[in-house]
Amino acid sequence: MSEHHNPLIIVVSGPGGVGKGTIVNRLVACDPKLWLSRSWTTRDRRDGESPDAYVFCSAKEFEERIQSNGFLEWTEFLGNYYGTPAPDNSAIEGRDVVLEIELDGARQVKQQYPEAILIFLLPPSREEQERRLRGRGDANDKIYARLKKAEAEEPVGRAIADHVLTNDDLEQTVDDMLTVIVNERSRR
Ligand code: ADP
Ligand code: 5GP
Repeated sequence: MSEHHNPLIIVVSGPGGVGKGTIVNRLVACDPKLWLSRSWTTRDRRDGESPDAYVFCSAKEFEERIQSNGFLEWTEFLGNYYGTPAPDNSAIEGRDVVLEIELDGARQVKQQYPEAILIFLLPPSREEQERRLRGRGDANDKIYARLKKAEAEEPVGRAIADHVLTNDDLEQTVDDMLTVIVNERSRR
């Protein structure tokens, strides 16, 4: 990312509803040395979702940004574009970078930055994943699409991840992730 600062790049991936967004927000709240990237998406904002969760944009705006090489990685996921803007070093200010993205994007980041750390999260069960999606207010068709995608992605995620964690108890998962980050910092 920068020639001078060599941040850790922590990629958090996992099926919809597993708890990625909740966890990365906790991580950055706990550790001021973490910087959370804000993605662009063409999907509609969910009821109750923060307007800051993404940069919500049109397909035209997204495609223009692709053309101008404005993304570190991007993909299409269940009919919408999602992408990580090329990082702005002045915003990162020497912190370690957290990306919350799906597996195709995670693979692209690993190709560019082989030292990136990929943490793949799993739900305790498919039933619990469904409960979480439902609890968040996702529509039925979105729930089924995400559950189906989860089945297909799980073996790939397990294969390419550096760490696989089951998000059963939220506090425990956040602690486990902070431990991974502290260990990686001391290793480098
Ligand atoms: P994702 O970003 O992976 O799609 P979210 O962070 O939106 O998932 O979490 C989906 C729902 O599950 C939210 O309502 C969240 O509060 C809840 N949740 C997250 N982690 C846990 C957990 N460990 N136990 C129970 N509910 C959780
Ligand atoms: P959701 O619609 O549930 O917010 O996100 C759908 C999927 O897109 C999730 O797996 C989420 O991690 C992923 N995602 C969010 N932002 C990005 C991004 O910038 N790039 C990629 N590749 N995936 C993203």
